Formats: sequence, C-alpha cells, structure tokens
Amino acid sequence: SKLESVVEMWLKQIFNLPNESVAGFVSGSSMAILCGLAAARFRTFQKLGWDINAKGLINAPKIRIVIGKHAHGTVLKAIALLGLGKDNIEWVDVDEQGRIIPDKIPQLDKSSILILQAGEVNSGAFDAFDEICDKARKAGTWIHIDGAFGLWAAASEKLKHLTKGIEKADSWSVDGHKTLNTSYDSGIVLCR
Ligand SMILES: *Cc1c(COP(=O)(O)O)cnc(C)c1O
Repeated sequence: SKLESVVEMWLKQIFNLPNESVAGFVSGSSMAILCGLAAARFRTFQKLGWDINAKGLINAPKIRIVIGKHAHGTVLKAIALLGLGKDNIEWVDVDEQGRIIPDKIPQLDKSSILILQAGEVNSGAFDAFDEICDKARKAGTWIHIDGAFGLWAAASEKLKHLTKGIEKADSWSVDGHKTLNTSYDSGIVLCR
C-alpha cells in the first residue's frame, strides 16, 4: 500500500497530471481502460441526473461514445463489457498515421465520453491532445487517454512534446509491461 502511494506520486510527476489524480494498479491496459471508462460512465450519467450504480443501464438516458477509427481493440472490448454498446460508437476519421482529425470530431456535450490515444499501435502517432482537450473540456465531456505504451513519452525531454495537453484529460491508462518492460501483468489507471 505504501509502495503504491509512492509510485502514484512518481507517476503524477512523470506524466505531469493534476495533483488530485489517483492511480489504480491493474493487470494491463485492457483493465485500466475498463476502469477509466467505468469512472467515465459513472460521472457522465451522474451529470445527466442518473445514478448508474443504483439504477443501472435499464431505462438510462442516452450517453455518447466518441472515438477515433484507429482506437485499440481493447477499447471496444471495454465499451462492450460496460454495456455501452459498440453500435453506439460515433467514429471519428483519422489521418494516415491514425491520428484523430480534430475538425472531424462531432459537436461534443456533457453526455459524451471522448477517447483519445497516446501511441497508435502501428504508427506510434499521438492525438492532438492540447487542442482537442480544450474543446472537449469546454463542452463538459469526459476525456480518457489510452496511452498503453506512448504515455511514457512524457518522461523523455526529446519526446514529451507529443504528450502536451494530456493533463487536461480526466482518466488515463498505461502499461508497465510494454515500454518499461516490467514483468507481466502490470497496468495502471489514473483518474482525476
Ligand atoms: C497493448 C495496448 C492495449 C492493451 O494493453 P494490455 O496491457 O495488453 O491489456 C491498449 N491500447 C494500446 C494502444 C495498446 O498498445
């Protein structure tokens, strides 16, 4: 427990995340994404006056899931497991590197959950967090960043420009067992 709170502090420093953020140590990014989106689901329904833990999904108001066309498959799994329905996803066009094209993001609102990516699995590309997060925050949208291997770019003087603006998101998922090459299984969810 002590180690976790020390590491939580280190992670917040490395990723330059808001001080009120908390970390959960899980089995990998699949589970970290599930946890981040579970928090997103809770808060988004709460904003609409619906206590998802008490009332469940039956008769719940509609919420929106907005993701890039190159989102990782585990994001889709989490959406399915959380009962949000893959068919409800609003897909956003991406460029040739798999980056969300900011102008293609639909009008967001407080019923939306936006999922961005730090490190596209084939190209390594990062979404334009700074610009996109400003817009999404203004709209009251929850932002999750899937940074399984890429979030660690924040620890490199040379690469950290790629993560500019990640601190404006609400939840983040990252692996220990990829970039850091820790033993399996090691993933982390961070949540504002
Ligand atoms: C690997 C990866 C995941 C899933 O991570 P696991 O640790 O295998 O559960 C999710 N998103 C991205 C971008 C990944 O590279």
